[in-house]
Amino acid sequence: MNNPPVLYIVIPCYNEEEALPITSKRVAALTDDMIAKRIIAPGSRILMVDDGSKDRTWEVIAGLCRSDARFEGVKLAHNAGHMNALWAGMTMAEPKCDCMISIDADLQDDINAMYGFLEAYQNGADVVTGVRSSRATDTFFKRTTAQGFYRLMNRLGVEMVYNAADYRLLSSRALKALLSFGEVNMFLRGMVPMLGFKTATVEYARGERVAGESKYPLKKMVGFAIEGITSLSNKPIRYVTLAGVLCALLGVAMGVYVLISLFKGTSVAGWASTMMSIWLLGGMQLVALGLIGEYIGKIYMETKRRPKFILEEYLHDDER
Ligand code: UDP
Ligand code: MG
Repeated sequence: MNNPPVLYIVIPCYNEEEALPITSKRVAALTDDMIAKRIIAPGSRILMVDDGSKDRTWEVIAGLCRSDARFEGVKLAHNAGHMNALWAGMTMAEPKCDCMISIDADLQDDINAMYGFLEAYQNGADVVTGVRSSRATDTFFKRTTAQGFYRLMNRLGVEMVYNAADYRLLSSRALKALLSFGEVNMFLRGMVPMLGFKTATVEYARGERVAGESKYPLKKMVGFAIEGITSLSNKPIRYVTLAGVLCALLGVAMGVYVLISLFKGTSVAGWASTMMSIWLLGGMQLVALGLIGEYIGKIYMETKRRPKFILEEYLHDDER
């Protein structure tokens, strides 16, 4: 077997003082086991990112780092949000690791799936996504809203793995490629499939939080969904344009009707001109708005400074 890879497990933590003692113990035991089985290299680390927590999360992380060489800690100056905390962790891990796994601090995602992740990695996958086989432990509300969201995203043309969380493995080259995306508004679940590397999925059953409560209240969930749509899809703008065209077409039909009424003398004075202007102007305004929106959408995508290509391999001979 070739050398085992150096694995970094990145864990974003926001007010997780209750979960961390349990989480750290379990994840450390898992890494020890994987090192013993020569699945990962002894230099593998668990990197915890404190996302500007208000409780004692950082004290817990700092304590772990001081007493245990397997842990690394990053503290963000303010609450930057789940995605940004993850990004911070990935940025720190990238130069040091062969592959990286991100997992939530509450261990709702089964850590034993990591064996499957690493097996897929050894078999050549650059991206391994954890997929929840059931959402039995989620509330009915969370389940239906989440499923509706995935459906909507797919309809808007965003490629997303159904029921995938932010529990995934990235090889160092996939990680490097992902980190080269220049956008500030990001939605990792939609961005990772854009990388295009060889991808595998591993199924697992999602459990309950080990401790504490969800850091995603409804407000954040809605924000997360809007972020997902607006950061990846320009389609909503196109719908405005379409509505405008429809409106204008209806306006023409309305115009014909109005003219007929006018000539038949069945309309009161002033009605015809008012009706015509309402429909035609309304339609034209919507089309114009949609058109401006199209350009703004283009500008938006430009400002993301995404890489134009992602290199998978480059075969060449420097001697020649
Ligand atoms: N999280 C974070 N910053 C935030 C909110 C959440 O780093 O502003 C972390 C949190 O500590 C956890 C992960 O993101 O590790 C997922 O949050 P949670 O488990 O509360 O979400 P849920 O499973 O309820 O969707
Ligand atoms: Mg959770």
